[in-house]
Amino acid sequence: MHYRGRFAPSPSGPLHAGSLVAALGSFLDARANGGEWRLRIENIDPPREVAGAAATICRQLEAHELFWDGAIHWQHESEPHFDAVLNALIAQQDAYYCTCTRAEIKARGGHYDGYCRKRNRQPAQASVRFTNNAHVSQFSDRAAGTIQVPPEFAQEDFVLKRRDKLWAYQLAVVVDDYQQKISHVVRGADLLFPTVWQLSLWQSLQQLSKRSKLSFPLQQAPHYLHLPLQLDARGQKLSKQNHAPAIEAKHASANLFSALTKLGLSPPQELNGAKPAELLNFGIQQWPTKYR
Ligand code: GLU
Ligand code: ZN
Repeated sequence: MHYRGRFAPSPSGPLHAGSLVAALGSFLDARANGGEWRLRIENIDPPREVAGAAATICRQLEAHELFWDGAIHWQHESEPHFDAVLNALIAQQDAYYCTCTRAEIKARGGHYDGYCRKRNRQPAQASVRFTNNAHVSQFSDRAAGTIQVPPEFAQEDFVLKRRDKLWAYQLAVVVDDYQQKISHVVRGADLLFPTVWQLSLWQSLQQLSKRSKLSFPLQQAPHYLHLPLQLDARGQKLSKQNHAPAIEAKHASANLFSALTKLGLSPPQELNGAKPAELLNFGIQQWPTKYR
């Protein structure tokens, strides 16, 4: 089997205990399957980017001996691909301009109702939305099994390019996973529902590939595995927004021990304090007993 996984942090802050679990989970899955593990820095949102965060993330990964394969992929370098995909989608009416404001969408019920689909305008101040006709509403998650997403969410025409001209995460992540030939996605469960959007867009990319409208070849959709969300003591998601503290290099061993525990791999007490390499080897060996 050709296996290529990735860890795709945004440089909006250093890694915290929650992002370490996602990094470790995707690393262990790749290594347990004899696969590659790539690092992609998702730096397409300059207003949210924190100076120095990308370098800090790399140093944190190295301190935990989570060594990636090949060169770092800096997502902003994919912008020509994003443009090409967006233009191809617009050309075949699989994407359209939308001028609705957040307040207007909310007043019409909250989920985007396709209001601008037929208006066929091309204003300067507009977002671009995906014509979500595929209606993917379920997928198979390797850990949770069949995930059924509520139809009003699954069928929404989600945003591909924002009104402020920044690329939306959904477009960027799908185009990069596609063109980087990512076969396995392992990430946090906060992205469980948007996976159906990503699969729907993936199908459109496959159609474009088949009709030679894109520079990259046909690519099968990845296998998905969503890891349990990490909550803090107050039951809130560990996140940069909630000011989760950065993981420290000097505590690499303890951080890895705790991340292995959170992944349900039950490291034995005698590994408490062990070197990162030893903890990672234990994780690689135990991984298949818990995740397949
Ligand atoms: N940059 C995204 C994040 O940090 C990546 C999500 C993904 O792995 O698809 O949440
Ligand atoms: Zn609209």
